[in-house]
Amino acid sequence: MTRIIIKISAMALMLSMAVSSFAQETKEYPQQERMRPGMSEYWTPQPKIVTPGDQATAAAPSDAIILFNGKDLSAWESARDHSAAGWDVHDGIVTVNKRAGDIQTKESFHNFQLHIEWCIPPMDEKFTSQARGNSGVYLQNMYEVQVLDSYKNETYVNGQAGSIYKQTPPLVNAMRAPGEWNVYDIIYTAPVFTEDGNYLYKPRVTVIHNGVVVQNNTEIIGTTEYIGFPKVKVHGDGPILLQSHGDPSPGISYRNIWIRRL
Ligand code: MG
Repeated sequence: MTRIIIKISAMALMLSMAVSSFAQETKEYPQQERMRPGMSEYWTPQPKIVTPGDQATAAAPSDAIILFNGKDLSAWESARDHSAAGWDVHDGIVTVNKRAGDIQTKESFHNFQLHIEWCIPPMDEKFTSQARGNSGVYLQNMYEVQVLDSYKNETYVNGQAGSIYKQTPPLVNAMRAPGEWNVYDIIYTAPVFTEDGNYLYKPRVTVIHNGVVVQNNTEIIGTTEYIGFPKVKVHGDGPILLQSHGDPSPGISYRNIWIRRL
């Protein structure tokens, strides 16, 4: 009996060895190559070198287009009739001349990074809400980032400083007091349209107000309309337009305006 059990065990062992060697012969796969550090590194094209500006003075970086350097408005024209921009340049700044109307850049832009500084002058308390230091930065002449005295001056939130006007309020109110300089850094991505005149990709904007993000890659839903809802209007590249608002408060001032094409 014991001899029979030994024989059966030996046969089982031989059988399992045969199956195992058969499997090894028919199931051989190449080994995955071991990853080396260089496999996930690439070297070209090298990013262009840009000398950063002095951040203490927000000087323009080396590849920026200077739109206003404190001396003249040669980069700007009247939005009304393309005549010379009629705002008042003085003391290294430019002050809105409400009689002259809106001004716009002579050049048009697609995607860009825009730096612009603005100051609301101290003024009488009788000027309130939208009638207090109202201006605006229009992106591609279509979409307004609101400029307003929003320092202790309440208004509808999607109309305060840092809002996409009549659309999206700012994430926070980063406003400086009247008489102090505010800074906008605006990063804008132009829309793409379908052939039948709708947005394939809506325009998008990030706004940094005095170093604080107030619009974070916000989707712009359409044109800026004072009355009614935003519209979709097919357009190409467009200028930066600065608003001369019809409110009776004193005109605001701008300085140190530059832009980088992206
Ligand atoms: Mg405005």
